[in-house]
Amino acid sequence: MNPTDTTLTELRDAIASKSISAAEATQTYLNRIEAHDGGLHSYHEVYTERAMKQATAVDDGEVTGPLAGVPIAIKDLLCTDYGHTTCSSKMLANFQAPYTATAVQRLEDAGAVILGKTNMDEFAMGSSTENSANVTTRNPWDTDRVPGGSSGGSAAAIAADLCAASIGSDTGGSIRQPAALCGVVGMKPTYGRISRYGLIAFASSLDQIGPFTHTVADTALLLKVMMGHDPLDSTSASVPVPGDIDQVDEAPKNLRIGIAKEYMSDSNDPAVAAATQQAIDVYKDHGAQIVEVDLPHTEYGIPVYYIVATAEASSNLARFDGVHYGHRTDKAEDLIDLYCRSRAEGFGDEVKRRIMLGTYALSSGYYDAYYDRALKVRRLIANDFDTAFKDCDAILCPTTTAPAFKIGEKSDDPLSMYLNDVYTVNCNLAGNAGISLPGGTTVVDGKELPIGVQLLGPSFDESRLLKIARVYESATNYYTKRPQL
Ligand code: GLN
Repeated sequence: MNPTDTTLTELRDAIASKSISAAEATQTYLNRIEAHDGGLHSYHEVYTERAMKQATAVDDGEVTGPLAGVPIAIKDLLCTDYGHTTCSSKMLANFQAPYTATAVQRLEDAGAVILGKTNMDEFAMGSSTENSANVTTRNPWDTDRVPGGSSGGSAAAIAADLCAASIGSDTGGSIRQPAALCGVVGMKPTYGRISRYGLIAFASSLDQIGPFTHTVADTALLLKVMMGHDPLDSTSASVPVPGDIDQVDEAPKNLRIGIAKEYMSDSNDPAVAAATQQAIDVYKDHGAQIVEVDLPHTEYGIPVYYIVATAEASSNLARFDGVHYGHRTDKAEDLIDLYCRSRAEGFGDEVKRRIMLGTYALSSGYYDAYYDRALKVRRLIANDFDTAFKDCDAILCPTTTAPAFKIGEKSDDPLSMYLNDVYTVNCNLAGNAGISLPGGTTVVDGKELPIGVQLLGPSFDESRLLKIARVYESATNYYTKRPQL
């Protein structure tokens, strides 16, 4: 068996039945990273020795669990008490966290082997990974194109089989958008489902951790391990994790799939529109009822998100002052100068732009006109979803308007970059769950590029959403497609 050519669940079972050792599986992934990541830059840091030790502990029977021996990559904003946690920022280039994020700890307690940290847009701000202070990650399907962002490294790593699964974070689409552009499954669970303890905050009321995998079943397995209340995160929900979350093959009965005209814009790329239509047909064939739903406040999502997210970011990033945390200038003349220079040197352009936008929206005289009003509209967006979910079990829509764009194509135009998230941000604003699934490929400039299909579901019912997703996955074979490296 080739351990890099299977699903996470299959690999887990093969290790459990000793048809392959965890050490052999881990070594195969490490070799593959060595061979291919030079051209992709999905990893920032690889923990070769530690990973081999973890794998050996599994083989020696010292570690057991539902993920025993399975090699996983994590986004570089999840704290670990080993290695560096940098958020792909100069500000944290040398930061070594004193503790490990709950989500990562739960993976390790379940026996997962952590291969390394993946590249990202600085502080998770971006949709292309071009905002990384280190390097731009390349899309494995076409290395002239972006993998999406901000969790672009995690998406590229699993798409190229440089890990058996990876973990990212989604504040406005940062798991689902890169999953769509890289042709893998990416899920944002309900806000509060997975502890944010040890996730370096971008926008605390929106941030949510989630997995990237090749299959819905693999996503379910990772969610089962990571979800659940954590006393270390006061926003983590005390809602029990359903025992049947990994029973994804139980096809849901009396299924109602919602279609919202607000997501079916004429400006969608024709291949995206065709993939969405095909998904509708798959559900029709399955016997689902297709219902029209209205999400009338959809168009306010982007402006509301870029007020709420930047406001929270401006506050969260205040801690990086060169004293408490992060890069410290060596040129300061006094304390104020130390703060100013440390921040000016440590943060990249997009992060500075967000801090300025957010500070402005929160400042006296503007707070009511921007921040307060944005919160009111956020409530209306959430109400739209609550109303829609009375009439349907999930809303089917595209994840992005188009397949992956070229590196450099949008980097000088922040607004067109922000518009990447039109179909993803509202789910973060409302807090409900969303998943992007491989929806086939289209050929652009002679290269095959993946397209994503998205399902949005009500809060705290990931279990049903995954079963609904599995209906589509099992009717298509798109998830088996791999890029040629
Ligand atoms: N692309 C969005 C942004 O730049 C979303 C980022 C994210 O989800 N972390 O803010």
